[in-house]
Amino acid sequence: MRYRHRLVIALFCAAAVVGLAAQAPEKIDYRVLTQIRDEGLNRSQAMDIVSWLADVHGPRLTGSPGYTRAADWAAKKMTDLGFVNVHVEKWKFGKGWQIKKFYAQMTEPQVMPVIGIVRAWTRGTDGPVVADVVHVVINSESDIEKYRGKLAGKIILTQPAREVRLLEGRTSWRMDDALLKEAETMPIPPAGPTGRVTVPVSLQDTINEFFLAEKVAIAIDRGRDDFIVTAGGPENLSWMTQRADGGTVFPSGRRTLVPSVTIAVEQYNRMVRILEKHVSVKMEAQIDTQFFDEIDMNGMNLVGELPGTDLASEVVLLGAHLDTEPGSTGATDDAAGCAVVMEALRILKVIGAKPRRTVRVALWDGEEWGRLGSKAYVRQHLADVATMALKPEHEKLSAYYNLDNGTGRIRGVWMQFNLAVRPIFQQLIEPLRDLGVTTLAARGDGNSDYLSFDEAGIPAFQFMQDRLEYMSRTHHSNMDYVDRVQRDDMLQMAVVVASIAYQTAMRDERLPRKPLPVPKAKPAAAR
Ligand SMILES: [Zn+2]
Repeated sequence: MRYRHRLVIALFCAAAVVGLAAQAPEKIDYRVLTQIRDEGLNRSQAMDIVSWLADVHGPRLTGSPGYTRAADWAAKKMTDLGFVNVHVEKWKFGKGWQIKKFYAQMTEPQVMPVIGIVRAWTRGTDGPVVADVVHVVINSESDIEKYRGKLAGKIILTQPAREVRLLEGRTSWRMDDALLKEAETMPIPPAGPTGRVTVPVSLQDTINEFFLAEKVAIAIDRGRDDFIVTAGGPENLSWMTQRADGGTVFPSGRRTLVPSVTIAVEQYNRMVRILEKHVSVKMEAQIDTQFFDEIDMNGMNLVGELPGTDLASEVVLLGAHLDTEPGSTGATDDAAGCAVVMEALRILKVIGAKPRRTVRVALWDGEEWGRLGSKAYVRQHLADVATMALKPEHEKLSAYYNLDNGTGRIRGVWMQFNLAVRPIFQQLIEPLRDLGVTTLAARGDGNSDYLSFDEAGIPAFQFMQDRLEYMSRTHHSNMDYVDRVQRDDMLQMAVVVASIAYQTAMRDERLPRKPLPVPKAKPAAAR
């Protein structure tokens, strides 16, 4: 009995040692974490930064003067805050574009000023247009013939009317216990593609060519449909409704060749209903746009940093995207993220933190058009993802942390299938539990700049955020204004980002990595 008892104790000890080896304790610097909280919660500049970026300098479309002014402002701000090595890194984008003038109203049978946004990179109308409105519904090639020769100079409505439903149910997204629990599950990927049926791209191209040949004056759509946002997992829970109405306009993703505008669905539907009664509708509108042909290296990422100490050549990178869609000021997408990463570094600088690794902030350009800025950074500094040929900086980059889900506070980290970071993050988020940071999700989330780093084999993570009105009001809409940016959440985010960035920069080791992704192309020599 006694002997057996000793054996059990020995086994317990062995288990404890194994457990310890698997979960090496992180050195948590509570003194610095306390300073971070004090500075971030009591003397925050996050809201001021977001107002400059969005109110004064938004929209910040890639290749537009608005973007350049925002980047200039942010560079000066970073320098004023004492960041070092502040500079712009350029890459080739393409033609820049901006809106010079836009207005639209229905003039018959009644006057109705129209809420709308000009589609990005659309041509102008060469002055004011006064024209009949025609509802054009093309579902197949043969439908095109019905309209041939009838659309010259017309303003056309290009989609069917869409039902606008009663505003009820959840339209703002705070993660509740059930949603946080769901984030901790790992849904099994489906067997095959489950794409939605839409108008095929080839038919859409044909329609666009047809409108151009017909000399349509302006094409009007009513933007993105409503949809139900669901969380994965066995229950496939429905969380909230993505609403696109009530004067909030989300541009549709359809490509167009003629001057194009997305307008409020209620006003769109009204015109369709009048036309169905064979009562004529007239509109007056003007779209002036400007293209910039200087396309050489007009993409601009902005970086700045707080230098490290004994491991200064190694980097912890924080990023968010500075560019926006053209329809409003991009306050939550993603001036909020930019302000938070700048504020996080400001906090570390002000409290005199001496991180071992360099903590670098990057504001990306071109995210909205396919993560172009972060991909350019990866190409310039880290790896050719086609061949997986690595550059020397690759092994020096410990981690990339991304913020791009609006203004809501951080609830945890999407670990991007990197299971080895779990025991580390568990310890790093523990001191942040009272700020609501509780949850580690094995999977990734959404499409943003962290994927550019993940594709290159860098430990790259999106913070898990409460999305609030991101899906129902602000994300790419005409209503992404500073009024929707939540101060308390912004302060929490900056404290959390500063804390995790600091702790990541202080570890003895860099963060563990997944195996390198398989190269998409063979190296040149093997071809
Ligand atoms: Zn974004």
